[in-house]
Amino acid sequence: MSGWPHHHLIDLARFSREDFATVLGLAQRFRTLPVSGGRKLPALQGRLVTTLFFEPSTRTRSSFELAARRLSADVQSFTPSSSSLSKGETLLDTVLTYVAMGADVLVVRHRCTGVPARLVHHLRTLGIRASVLNGGDGLHSHPSQGLLDLLTLARHFNPGDPGPRALEGRRIALVGDVLHSRVARSNLWALTACGADVVLCGPPTLVPDLFRRFVEAPPPGQQEDPVARRGRIEVCRTLEEALPGADAVMTLRLQKERMRQHLLSSLESYHRCFGLTHARLRLCGGSAPVPVLHPGPVNRGVEMSGALLSDPEHSLVDEQVLNGVPVRMALLYLLAASEVAQGAALDQSSLNPSSSRP
Ligand code: ASP
Repeated sequence: MSGWPHHHLIDLARFSREDFATVLGLAQRFRTLPVSGGRKLPALQGRLVTTLFFEPSTRTRSSFELAARRLSADVQSFTPSSSSLSKGETLLDTVLTYVAMGADVLVVRHRCTGVPARLVHHLRTLGIRASVLNGGDGLHSHPSQGLLDLLTLARHFNPGDPGPRALEGRRIALVGDVLHSRVARSNLWALTACGADVVLCGPPTLVPDLFRRFVEAPPPGQQEDPVARRGRIEVCRTLEEALPGADAVMTLRLQKERMRQHLLSSLESYHRCFGLTHARLRLCGGSAPVPVLHPGPVNRGVEMSGALLSDPEHSLVDEQVLNGVPVRMALLYLLAASEVAQGAALDQSSLNPSSSRP
């Protein structure tokens, strides 16, 4: 684990295939550990994980906090509505307050693209070593979601060895509001890095043609792509074109809070054209049940029928939630490990379960 190269986690564009393999391998290990009866791993004992969610969250925040506790870290949560932000304190000063209390990892969510990256810049300038973990910023990136989606798909395709190779040559359809989706962007980097081909499907207002070339543009400050050969990205305008041959379908929420103008005529017409149902899923062909994913929260009956969402034969939505915890344990573990990279390491014994801190 000492070779983990990232001190912060802002997006998945900087991940090599080996980085994906490391996270999936560790998450799979955490996934299969018994956690009943208050058993915890001592790996992050004495570390402080602070969650700063400036935008609402149900799954991500609670999943990070549970992950941190399962690794025996101390956990502190910031709630904007009851904070001094309302008295005019800046975001940076708020973060520095938590750093002064000893935060080792800051999990940050913000409705504006770029906030976690700006924080990294400020912390570096101030010589502060705390790690920043992006919990979702604007339209840009939601790396822990991209990774938990990857684990969910890899476990589905190859339960015995759910690494990046389980995705090689697969065709994954992403349907819906790609334009406003940080989940879609993170999945594009993750899936193509593992050799999957991605087909994006939706109207041009929500899936602009430009997305075909999405992974060709490295993020600012990055010279080259750490992945030698990526899967391809295709854009389709109908489910009839997109679904044949798909190995899995991920539907994306219509992000009404981020839509500046009317990009849809109505939710009913959207569902008629792009809503996923059992009948539509049959377009994928093949004899095995095709898995369906959604990052949540779901607009039932819009992106997907309620019947499909609740059908355990197809729906991996609960599995995604479940996988969120071990994936976030892996990320917290790896970032904290990079925090002590020069000195005492988090060794094997820190990964053995203990029941000392129920
Ligand atoms: N929960 C995901 C996010 O925060 C997806 C969504 O909100 O639609 O981006």
